[in-house]
Amino acid sequence: MAERIPFIAGNWKMNKSLSQAIDTVTKLKELIEDVQDVEVAVCPPFIALDAVVKVLIRSNIAVGAQNCFWEEKGAYTGEISPLMLADIGCRYCIVGHSERRKYFGETDANVNRKVRALYQFGLLPIICVGETLEQRQQGLTMNVVEEQIRGCLSGLPVNKVVDSVIAYEPVWAIGTGHTATPEQAQEVHSFIRNLLAELYGEENAQKIRIQYGGSVTPENIKGLMAMPDIDGALVGGASLEPEKFARIVKFKQ
Ligand code: PEP
Repeated sequence: MAERIPFIAGNWKMNKSLSQAIDTVTKLKELIEDVQDVEVAVCPPFIALDAVVKVLIRSNIAVGAQNCFWEEKGAYTGEISPLMLADIGCRYCIVGHSERRKYFGETDANVNRKVRALYQFGLLPIICVGETLEQRQQGLTMNVVEEQIRGCLSGLPVNKVVDSVIAYEPVWAIGTGHTATPEQAQEVHSFIRNLLAELYGEENAQKIRIQYGGSVTPENIKGLMAMPDIDGALVGGASLEPEKFARIVKFKQ
């Protein structure tokens, strides 16, 4: 079985001023400088990306954006392109987050275009999927997740897919304090892994990292990471405090 390096990413959403962002990553850098066996990224708002990249140069923390457009440049008022993100040193970009699906009409087809554009400029996507509470209660979790994965990855070459990160984020667990149990999360992660194996072959599916997201804390990370198909976490609220996020990153200690 392929060795997947755990990947913990912090999604700051629409939080922190520029000076707060710099302060946060300056502290985080020091707190986790000894961490070697876990990959870490922070995803601040656009206005802080450049400054955060500069603070984190030569550190063990990568930087990601929270969204992008799929075109390289042009008359798209208010948008940011993957080329711009690559130019300032971003490595990752979150796409398809449930908040973007809910408030900004993000669809799987849009995510697919963004993923292709990110690869064109050497960035790696963190592709978010997950069901709402209503969908779970109706027994539709696997159908929803399958449709999202097939739609977001449609037509992508397998050598790109293996570098993609999938974040399974049940919508009912995001920002609510109601984390999925490790068993609930594992059930869906295992389903996703099997779907990826069906689409790209077992060997490739074993290489793809699947993060869990939804009210991850220093207290529950260990249990989640003990599951065979949970390869990391996408952390919202708890990533805003460097001490808390550092404890999540150091889940093995
Ligand atoms: C997220 O924003 O992706 C997220 C999982 O948020 P939280 O950790 O606050 O639930």
